Amino acid sequence: MSANRELFDHVMVPNYSPSAVIPVRGKGSRVWDQNNNELIDFAGGIAVSCLGHCHPTLVNALKEQGEKIWHLSNVMTNEPALRLAKKLVDNTFAEKVYFANSGAESNEAALKLARRWALDNYGEQKSQIIAFKQGFHGRTFFTVTVGGQAAYSDGFGPKPGDVVHAEYNDLDSLKALISDNTCAVVMEPLQGEGGIVSPTDEFAKGVRELCDQHNALLIYDEVQTGVGRTGELYAYMGLGVTPDILTTAKALGGGFPIGAMLTTTDIAKHLKIGTHGSTYGGNPLACAVAEAAFDTVNDESVLQGVKHREQLLKSGLEKINEKYQVFSQIRGKGLLIGAVLNDNYQGRAKEFLNAAMVQGLMSLVAGANIIRFTPSLVIPEEDIAEGLARFERAVATIVNG
Ligand SMILES: *Cc1c(COP(=O)(O)O)cnc(C)c1O
Repeated sequence: MSANRELFDHVMVPNYSPSAVIPVRGKGSRVWDQNNNELIDFAGGIAVSCLGHCHPTLVNALKEQGEKIWHLSNVMTNEPALRLAKKLVDNTFAEKVYFANSGAESNEAALKLARRWALDNYGEQKSQIIAFKQGFHGRTFFTVTVGGQAAYSDGFGPKPGDVVHAEYNDLDSLKALISDNTCAVVMEPLQGEGGIVSPTDEFAKGVRELCDQHNALLIYDEVQTGVGRTGELYAYMGLGVTPDILTTAKALGGGFPIGAMLTTTDIAKHLKIGTHGSTYGGNPLACAVAEAAFDTVNDESVLQGVKHREQLLKSGLEKINEKYQVFSQIRGKGLLIGAVLNDNYQGRAKEFLNAAMVQGLMSLVAGANIIRFTPSLVIPEEDIAEGLARFERAVATIVNG
């Protein structure tokens, strides 16, 4: 038996359609496949591998903790979880942390907490959750219902109720829905999966004000934007808006699965003993790696480096566009960048991704019209240059037919 792409179709549930290329090792922002072909990684495992592959600090943390203790469950606490929680509290608005294993689970905790907070404080009529169209919050049934894409949430039977969707960057559409029965407004401080859409300043501040007027909690889903991705430790810091609850996952573990929900003491107290939980949440191995990743990213020179790399990547993409005229816009913040296809290339983002793969570059899409780049936050400048050269060759093959 050989572990190849064909085997996938025989033994895996068909909900994914992975590339034919199967990477077997990685170092920094380079990856090698089964045939020892080398690839440059502008995908970062979907904004997860914030320090690239096999960063020595993370490998050491994993090895060290791997020889101490792996798992206890929450019947006991553990040192790595306590240390990581303390660091999250010391470096954000938050006073309390709940650990989960993924972005969706962190959001699930946030939504359940918001509902319980509203029930305890105001009664059961205050249960409405407002989210935004094109938003993405994960694939559990509650989070996919809160997400703003029917294609992901329909076809699974009756949905959790009292969830509605407003237009992102449109305060009037939020005003039309929000009331004293709204328990929480959930938003990404830069929509990722939905197309790399930044909020306007006016919108970000207006959402906070409307939440305050109606005693609704503001939940920031920073699963994709958190831990340095936008050039700030968390994106809320760059917006000048403080949420009541924040969720973080993806880059938090630098490639080891972990998520967290952060909030204040006053809100957190509503998740009383026994109201919520997870067997793996706060697992020592995950928290030890996440602590090392967090310490490494939470550094002024690393965060400045993200802003510098943003300029390199964006200007490189602009140059390619001057030559080939394929994009209507290059947008996003930090190393969460979207190249929007112009009218001549509508619906063909996946073709660009495939062509880039042929040239030895891993990238992502965000919908049918946007090519998304979320490389390591410390990707070497020469890898950015080489990745752009490969992308240019891919663009040329498509433009020249
Ligand atoms: C990826 C993502 C999620 C889901 O995270 P999982 O770890 O896949 O459950 C939730 N919200 C946002 C904004 C994301 O980008």
